[in-house]
Amino acid sequence: MKTLLNHINGKWVAAKSGASRDILNPANNRVIAKATDSGAADAEDAITAARKAFDHGPWGKSTGPERAEKLLALANLVEKHADEFAKIDTENNGKPLREANYDAADAVGCFRYYAGLASKPQGQTYSVSDPNMVCMTVREPIGVCAQIIPWNYPLLMAVWKLAPGLAAGNACILKPSEMTPVSAVKLFELIEKAGFPPGAANLVLGPGDPVGSTLAASDRVDKVAFTGGGVTGRKIMTAATGNLKKVTLELGGKSPNIVFADADFESALEFAMFGIFAGQGEVCSAGSRLLLERKIAKKFLPRLADACRKIVVGDGLAKKTEMGPLVSRAHMEKVLGYIESGLDEGAKLLCGGKRITKGALARGNFVEPTVFVDVPPEAKIMKEEIFGPVLVVELFDTEEEAIAKANDTVYGLAGAVFTSDGAKAQRVIKQLRAGITWINTYHPTFNEAPWGGYKQSGIGRELGTYGLEAYTEVKQININLAPGRVNWFKNL
Ligand code: NAD
Repeated sequence: MKTLLNHINGKWVAAKSGASRDILNPANNRVIAKATDSGAADAEDAITAARKAFDHGPWGKSTGPERAEKLLALANLVEKHADEFAKIDTENNGKPLREANYDAADAVGCFRYYAGLASKPQGQTYSVSDPNMVCMTVREPIGVCAQIIPWNYPLLMAVWKLAPGLAAGNACILKPSEMTPVSAVKLFELIEKAGFPPGAANLVLGPGDPVGSTLAASDRVDKVAFTGGGVTGRKIMTAATGNLKKVTLELGGKSPNIVFADADFESALEFAMFGIFAGQGEVCSAGSRLLLERKIAKKFLPRLADACRKIVVGDGLAKKTEMGPLVSRAHMEKVLGYIESGLDEGAKLLCGGKRITKGALARGNFVEPTVFVDVPPEAKIMKEEIFGPVLVVELFDTEEEAIAKANDTVYGLAGAVFTSDGAKAQRVIKQLRAGITWINTYHPTFNEAPWGGYKQSGIGRELGTYGLEAYTEVKQININLAPGRVNWFKNL
């Protein structure tokens, strides 16, 4: 079996230790690849390569149009291999193929979007108090950027980081999750083909500690961009204090999906399910708390339970599959542990709640689509991000109560409201403390619009123009149109 390698300074290299790890398919826990398992020395090599590319190589001096051309070439290559990428992510992450197909298409769009931005006007000019002064700003790359990503969208998270990072002219070092490196390796084959110079983009495979932690702590790294859990986010922020590198964090959520009685019933029902069961609930913006107006609960909940029991759970490669396995045995155990704790703390199961072990599914990490009702407000399942197919339902009677419950969380990533009353929808969204919100829909995400969270869901924004700005420094330039002495010092 071929071993997946690091890509450092334009070359495929194995970890210095020679260690490797098995990469599994979560649908059956079979080994699908071996990946080189890097250590701190490999991360240091990647930093050296990126430093060289940025400080001395052609990449550090590249122009926007040059970068746009390469990113467009890369977008075209990814598009050509889109089916392959989708299959890789389904086999490595578990998500149904139809979802992985969307991810591949989004990845192409993201490269194209940032290719477009790379050559567009940036910076501003200012009218200042001195008429002889031209004051303006330009945006410049930050330098060497470490980019650490999770396992839930292996290709798309890599692209959300690399596309703006490279478009802005930084030298990037990507560290994928140690569980899902396969599509990142494929992406780097195409980065090489697209003609990026050595060291502009580097790939290091291996565990969070020491690979990610070395990147986050290094004084030679100028920025760390991280997507993952809050515990790791805090470690990264702490590690980054040494040289006060720039930090952006995209973290978790416990996002509310508010359904009013006047909502389109069938649509609200489907989006309540889609919000939580898309991506097996392993989605940072998942609608994991359903806030339901009490007067429709009697009609809504039995329909929800019935529809959830009919969700086709299976291998993501099977055409009929609507929900795949969880990414790993350990993560499945964690999710089942949350379900157990919900029952212990007095919540009532509306449906699901068990691991699925029927036939071939016994080999994989499958959990039933699960819905809890009558959840005590302080229960762990109400407060913590489960990151699996587990929905908690809360009932409310008034608009004020819905808003208060929606905001009763340390997170603030996403949220939605379903109602046919336009003014009510706007009133509620205005009061939601969350970075990404939807009215009468759940989950649509656009490369053109900013992504990120309030409160403990993160720092900064990705995507859109905000995503590019997060990879730039702003330089103020003042030009004196009347050069000459100012006579501050008389005895000159
Ligand atoms: P994680 O925090 O365990 O790991 C994320 C990445 O960090 C991995 O590459 C891991 O190897 C690395 N890492 C681990 N320890 C590290 C350390 N000490 N220093 C540096 N890097 C380290 O998260 P996960 O389990 O892979 O992903 C799940 C989490 O990601 C969830 O909380 C989810 O909400 C969040 N997430 C957020 C978004 C978003 O856009 N806000 C998107 C996807 C996932």
